[in-house]
Amino acid sequence: MELKIYDSLSDKEKYLSESKNKAIRLFVCGPTVYDYSHIGHARTYIFFDFFAKYLKSLGKKVFYLQNITDIDDKIIKKAKEQNTDPIILAKLMTKYHLRDMKTLGINSVTKYASATKFIKQIEKQVKNLIKKGFAYKIENDGWYFDIKSFPEYGKLSGRTAEGAEDSISRIDEAVDKKNKGDFCLWKLKKPNEPFWKSDVLGDGRPGWHIEDTAISENFFGPQYDIHGGGLDLKFPHHEAEIAQQECSSGLSPMVNIWMHSGMLTVNGKKMSKSLNNFLTIQDYLKNHSANSLKLLVLSSNYRSLLNYSQTLAEQAETSLKTVKEFITKLDLAKNSKTKETRSFDLKPFEDKFASSLQNDLNTPEAISAIFSLINEVNKVIWTLNLSSIKNIEKTLKNKLDLFGISINLDKIPQNINKLAKERKLLRDSKQFIRSDDLRKAIEELGYKVEDTPKGQIILKK
Ligand SMILES: [Zn+2]
Repeated sequence: MELKIYDSLSDKEKYLSESKNKAIRLFVCGPTVYDYSHIGHARTYIFFDFFAKYLKSLGKKVFYLQNITDIDDKIIKKAKEQNTDPIILAKLMTKYHLRDMKTLGINSVTKYASATKFIKQIEKQVKNLIKKGFAYKIENDGWYFDIKSFPEYGKLSGRTAEGAEDSISRIDEAVDKKNKGDFCLWKLKKPNEPFWKSDVLGDGRPGWHIEDTAISENFFGPQYDIHGGGLDLKFPHHEAEIAQQECSSGLSPMVNIWMHSGMLTVNGKKMSKSLNNFLTIQDYLKNHSANSLKLLVLSSNYRSLLNYSQTLAEQAETSLKTVKEFITKLDLAKNSKTKETRSFDLKPFEDKFASSLQNDLNTPEAISAIFSLINEVNKVIWTLNLSSIKNIEKTLKNKLDLFGISINLDKIPQNINKLAKERKLLRDSKQFIRSDDLRKAIEELGYKVEDTPKGQIILKK
């Protein structure tokens, strides 16, 4: 079976075409760095990080490119509010964003490309659009893309004009626009705003959409494999990207597959500072682990709406404890050099896991296969032979790696180990009341001890 991916443009599932030696070129829209990254960003980047890792696990090479929008209206507005320089603000927020990605173990991006480092390429693409008759100038304002010049405008989203729900500051309002949906390619210099020199276009700065296509064309050429991003970027951003790239190169399609990850709400509502439900990645990590964020994100289908709540985070932490307890047991079975003879067939699990992911990356189904496996193995764990135990441990680790989840077994402090040993001796000599007292003492110190046929295991509570 081959990997099937849902393509938002054709509204169909497509097989990822094989190109033996060439890397799969994946572009995912990066953040606009005007504020701290929130858990909505985390959802998108956790998913695409998993996706890149999954492709690599299938033996494919991947060039994962992500832009960073480090010059934009939003940045300039925020910098004004904070009485700081937009370029400095963007640099700082870029640093924080990359730190957050690192904390989350998101490490599959081949190249992060900041827009301000690609001004020449942006200028070139705008010039090309002007030369070919797709762009026009509004004096003292900027260069605009004429959407009527591209009859296919709207083919991705089924829309051509902005509505009230589209994010503010991203709509280029200008009274002299030819069409309501025309968007700005190059904004002419305004007082107290950053600008770059351009003889042909006039000094100014890039519009938002053109940053991405200039960067993707620079690394991938005019046509490539996959473009990904959050669903909120489908219109007008991705629609604009298609218009710019296809008109500039005269080649279609710009990409083979468009992937959109679903939105994230918090307690049923769109995240917003005024609703007090805005959660940055750092806010989340104050109370929860990075592993739990990855588990909760990937436990939901990437195309569905994910409604975050505190309960969901706690459920993810509980699930992780189940996994940790299971690995602790495997570890004990392995170290006890078990002489048991029963073997465990992993094939049904492997098949289920593989087919789930091949089916448009159904991570919730793959994760549920992991928990079914844990359940099944738990029933017979103390009767399994050593090679089965080792295989299960290796397979499980492998699958969790794919989701960016790494489980570290608890380091048990000496005093706890000592109490547990005493408890075992008492228990072995059937002094149950005294051994139970020690169990309670251990629990009060934040650990729990469990008896198994191969000895006791100790876990953090
Ligand atoms: Zn983008």
